[in-house]
Amino acid sequence: MLVSAKEMLNKAKAGHYAVGQFNINNLEWAKAILLTAEEMKSPVILGVSEGAGKYMCGYKTIVGMVKGMIEGLGITVPVAIHLDHGSYEGAYKCIEAGFSSVMFDGSHYPIEENIAKTKELVAVCNEKGLSIEAEVGSIGGEEDGVIGGGEVASPDECKMIADLGVTMLAAGIGNIHGKYPANWTGLNFEVLAKISEKVGDMPLVLHGGTGIPEDMIKKAISLGVSKINVNTECQLSFAAATRKYIEAGKDLEGKGFDPRKLLAPGVEAIKATVREKIELFGSAGKA
Ligand SMILES: [Zn+2]
Repeated sequence: MLVSAKEMLNKAKAGHYAVGQFNINNLEWAKAILLTAEEMKSPVILGVSEGAGKYMCGYKTIVGMVKGMIEGLGITVPVAIHLDHGSYEGAYKCIEAGFSSVMFDGSHYPIEENIAKTKELVAVCNEKGLSIEAEVGSIGGEEDGVIGGGEVASPDECKMIADLGVTMLAAGIGNIHGKYPANWTGLNFEVLAKISEKVGDMPLVLHGGTGIPEDMIKKAISLGVSKINVNTECQLSFAAATRKYIEAGKDLEGKGFDPRKLLAPGVEAIKATVREKIELFGSAGKA
């Protein structure tokens, strides 16, 4: 069923596990993630970036597709459709289109403006029963030329944003998007512990979940991280499985060119990645 992320994340925080946000790109992605979450009886969050929203022909297409899948595949676990790194305008578009959750990434605004815009969106989301994620201390990535540490959020700024009534808070703790460089210095647990202490019960979000070592993931969960975003890892496993199929010449055998056959190994690879993450995050059986 389509729900906001509020209840599932509050439960996760109290139960010391994390719910995965898996970003979707098309029908195959959404289907693979929903089926795996159902199989493992895990709550799940489908992440949609603004770019992916455009690619999938708009937010309404996505809501229609996911709602149809929930019904058609008999999905009973809680599912949230969540805007990932939304702009101010993007957040409003998703709210209107029927998303159950949005992230407003105001981390590039001065803190005062981030606060004003977040406050306004919190009021709208509260009224409609949607969850809202805010971000403090921007999360780096290869595309920003960030190598090494990544940005670290100020615990006091985290407290200021948490007090606005957001559902969950993303804080930079040295995590970055995409593949981690060889000289990455790891997550900053000292800052994470301080943020956790300041924000109390507020579920924390860890972006850039691809390539963070398992022990660091577990430690982050123990320090209050209740939502972990996974995107690149599914893309890498999908690409590797598809490459293997083509390189083995399977598309040239019989009806191997049929897209439903050609994309099947990639779908299975996404499922395997999602399964692995749900196990690691501890959300299996929590739906
Ligand atoms: Zn992110």
